[in-house]
Amino acid sequence: MIIDLISDTVTKPTPAMLDAMMHAKVGDDVFKMDPTVNALQEKAAQLFGMEAALFFPSGTMANQAAIKIHTQPGDLLFCDKYAHVYNYESGGAAFHSGVTCKLIDGKRGMFTAAQLEEVAAGNPEIYLPYSKLVCIENTTNKGGGACWDFAELEKIEKITREKNLAFHLDGARLFNALVAKNETPQQYGHLFDTISICFSKGLGAPIGSILLGSKQHMEKALRIRKLFGGGMRQVGFLAAACDYALDHHVERLAEDHQKAKEIGVVLETLSFITKVEPIETNIVIFYVDKTIGDATFIEKMKAEHILLTPMGEGKIRIVTHLDYTNEMHEKLLQILRNFKG
Ligand SMILES: *Cc1c(COP(=O)(O)O)cnc(C)c1O
Repeated sequence: MIIDLISDTVTKPTPAMLDAMMHAKVGDDVFKMDPTVNALQEKAAQLFGMEAALFFPSGTMANQAAIKIHTQPGDLLFCDKYAHVYNYESGGAAFHSGVTCKLIDGKRGMFTAAQLEEVAAGNPEIYLPYSKLVCIENTTNKGGGACWDFAELEKIEKITREKNLAFHLDGARLFNALVAKNETPQQYGHLFDTISICFSKGLGAPIGSILLGSKQHMEKALRIRKLFGGGMRQVGFLAAACDYALDHHVERLAEDHQKAKEIGVVLETLSFITKVEPIETNIVIFYVDKTIGDATFIEKMKAEHILLTPMGEGKIRIVTHLDYTNEMHEKLLQILRNFKG
């Protein structure tokens, strides 16, 4: 038995999800004729109280399309220094949209309204780039699954309106935040111009993301998606998996969060672990001291068939997910408790 805690993207479709996929009604989605994709887009838009939605092959493409919608080459995008759109999308913001990222020095991937206010200029001098877009991420990936305070997001939204900036949410793991904080999709739909959601993370679908926004923005997104090579044909087979995930895999995220917290409790008792970051959702980030070292710890866990991710600087990441069973959980906790350097 391999216990793979590298990411919540490692899950495979459940038999019921596969069944839904195999029975999907499909058509050519480039001609907008795939009924399953159309239904998923409508359902997601309605869920968030937004006008329209567009299905994407990946979260990266959905985010990059959003950046392209809101900017022109040479413009400035504000995000936290930990942001996925800056760190983990292969430089796409520069490549696809020709924009510069202004990084805000936040905490656990989250900045404050005051910090944004400080960096977001009004009418720029001729030598300054145009400020166009604010991107935030909820939950934060590199920030260890942390959730934003909704009141702070409301303050940030107010600044974006005042300064005429677009507001994009990288919601790859937004459903984890909604479940953890007991918030609603509509709250977020009300606040942002565009939202991207991943079905292939905690929700357990094999492939698929969606971008939400106004009709006008989604018309632009449709063209950009084609330009990026993301126009797909009988993709209803995948949309069916995402639709199944929306219906069956949202509330259960609480189980992943509970398991992550239980792992944290055991990690806290181990002498060679110097720090465990606060655990709010399904990501656990902790630090191993130099007596063992992160590389050795990861090696020794691998020998026990447990896979973890090194994050550099002594940091290690664990992500709980749909395929991490109760049996695996008990075994992991036992191995951790008995771990000998
Ligand atoms: C995973 C992830 C994405 C998108 O990743 P893809 O692998 O392209 O689907 C975007 N933002 C965050 C925060 C993520 O964790």
